[in-house]
Amino acid sequence: MGSGMNKIPQPSDRGSVDQEQFLKILSREEALARFEAALFPRALPSEIRTLAAALGRALAEDIFAPIDVPPFDRSNVDGFAIRSADLAAASEAAPVRLALNGEIIACGTAPVLQVASGTATAIATGGPLPRGADAVVMVEHTQPAGTGAIEVRRAASPGQFVSYAGSDIARAEALLRSGTIIGSREIGMLAACGIAEVKVVRRPRVAVVSTGDELVQPGEVLAPPAIYDTNGAIVAAAIDENGGAAHFVGAIPDDEAKLEAAMREALAEADMLVLSGGTSKGAGDVSHRIIGRLGQPGIIAHGVALKPGKPLCLAVCDGKPVVILPGFPTSAMFTFHDMIVPVLRRMAGLPPRADAKVSAMVPVRIASELGRTEFVMVSLVEARDGLIAYPSGKGSGAITSFAQADGFLRIDALADQMPAGTEAEVTLFTPHVRVPDLVIIGSHCTGLDLVTAPLARAGLSVRSIAVGSLGGLAAARRGECDLAPIHLFDEKTETYNTPYLADGLELVPGWRRMQGIVFRLGDRRFEGFSAKDAVAVALADPACIMVNRNQGAGTRILIDRLLGGARPEGYWNQPRSHNAVAAAVAQHRADWGMTIAPVAHASGLGFIPLAEEHYDFALVSARKQRRAVQAFLDALASDESRAALSRAGFRPA
Ligand code: AMP
Ligand code: MG
Repeated sequence: MGSGMNKIPQPSDRGSVDQEQFLKILSREEALARFEAALFPRALPSEIRTLAAALGRALAEDIFAPIDVPPFDRSNVDGFAIRSADLAAASEAAPVRLALNGEIIACGTAPVLQVASGTATAIATGGPLPRGADAVVMVEHTQPAGTGAIEVRRAASPGQFVSYAGSDIARAEALLRSGTIIGSREIGMLAACGIAEVKVVRRPRVAVVSTGDELVQPGEVLAPPAIYDTNGAIVAAAIDENGGAAHFVGAIPDDEAKLEAAMREALAEADMLVLSGGTSKGAGDVSHRIIGRLGQPGIIAHGVALKPGKPLCLAVCDGKPVVILPGFPTSAMFTFHDMIVPVLRRMAGLPPRADAKVSAMVPVRIASELGRTEFVMVSLVEARDGLIAYPSGKGSGAITSFAQADGFLRIDALADQMPAGTEAEVTLFTPHVRVPDLVIIGSHCTGLDLVTAPLARAGLSVRSIAVGSLGGLAAARRGECDLAPIHLFDEKTETYNTPYLADGLELVPGWRRMQGIVFRLGDRRFEGFSAKDAVAVALADPACIMVNRNQGAGTRILIDRLLGGARPEGYWNQPRSHNAVAAAVAQHRADWGMTIAPVAHASGLGFIPLAEEHYDFALVSARKQRRAVQAFLDALASDESRAALSRAGFRPA
């Protein structure tokens, strides 16, 4: 890995870095206004496209109808072309007999014979009206009258069942205006006029560059400390979703010369350049310095009061937008949608995104940084009186929050929090709210996925929100979920879960998870010992480092008991999940910790069993009869789930 991994500012440039970092932060609104002012108005390049290839594009010209539609007077029904004057006196009492002319006018047949007084010509829907006729009678309103004649028993008005030439679209009429987005309806109108090609706004070509020595592309082999390039794929997809044509250049190392060459080459071909990463003003971050050399006016905003997304850099180089998105994928996505999409859509001739919004109650207080517009992803669930929005962010480095969230809410720059109980406006990621059939809020376990798999196959949507056992119990008491998975140890009774149930909740036994000491296979300090003895050996070795768990975790109680008041090296490293403990040991940052057996085995680690933890469900009794809840209970009891749980290392209750 090159020098780019080391971005800690040197003492000598510390002052200037800090100043640069904090003096020029613009508000979201100010940054966007300056960016747009530097880019618009501008001429939008256009191109000729066939109708099918014009779908979704903005029309770049006014279109006037070249012909009348329909091009001739035409029958709207199956029947007979007649002269209305012949039927002026027709009635039930006085039927009128008309002799049939010797032709039948089907669609696409040009009439030859004239309809003279006292005659009629058979005509199909869509057939051109013959000379002499001025109306059509429906076949249902006539009777055959011997060979070659019909009888009509009702009057007809002139023009009856006739569409006149140009009645739909008149020649020279303005058909579609420039700027119209071409959908199937517009394509239909153009096709009816015989127009095969139209001039549309050309999709802006957007070059996408990821930066970082640590990046490898999906499909390639990952070796620590590398990570997969996530931004390249999401930014390219989001560009295509918003009317651009993305060209993914690749991931370029943090090397000023290489990066500058790549940026110049990309910009020569493209209408816009979007980079991600390397936008902090640290020593290894060079992209913003390169931008200063690419064209005028250069950087418009570097540092925007957004959270996530503060390091966003917006520039215009000789008329082309050049953007550096923050490196963390969630930050990159939010800033892209909030600040770049409006500009991209204008360049593509598209209207602003019409995102659907709903109102939802926030059940917990959300802290927010004063002075920055903050975006918080939320999951929506339905409670007794309306929608509830659970903050689902896992931090700006997370990517799954995007997939699991239904939308986001915005906390104003001037607020330092959103109090619990606030009715907030949620911008949806999809056009409609999809309220899940089954809502599970509480402690997460990989075993849960095994039990809910049959529900997904049955078309039931399941939303699982990980907030820990206590958070889940609170949600269950408020009626926000169907089930709260919990694993809470009660020291007084030395039992799990039951002592924590409140009124209106009942316990559904789930499964047991064996907790124990995790270590690297072959480590003599642990191999073959009981948990108690292994910890004694670890405590006696000052070089041995542990990894702890967070306060409040059931596992933490077990660890503290084993340690009996000792505070060995690593005690203050307190991750919040079983997986993080295993990763710390596997990657040699710690030598031992406590996790559950399935996680230890999945990481290829050694495991000394200690005590079983009970992972059960607090079921909201009032919701027990719901179809999805019954389906869950059935799945939980099924042989299939029990076998799957056992295979994964759990012990079904
Ligand atoms: P940077 O701004 O380059 O320091 O990046 C901030 C964080 O985002 C670092 O943890 C990077 O590894 C991460 N990051 C940068 N670019 C990408 C990318 N294309 N995909 C995923 N993570 C990235
Ligand atoms: Mg980087």
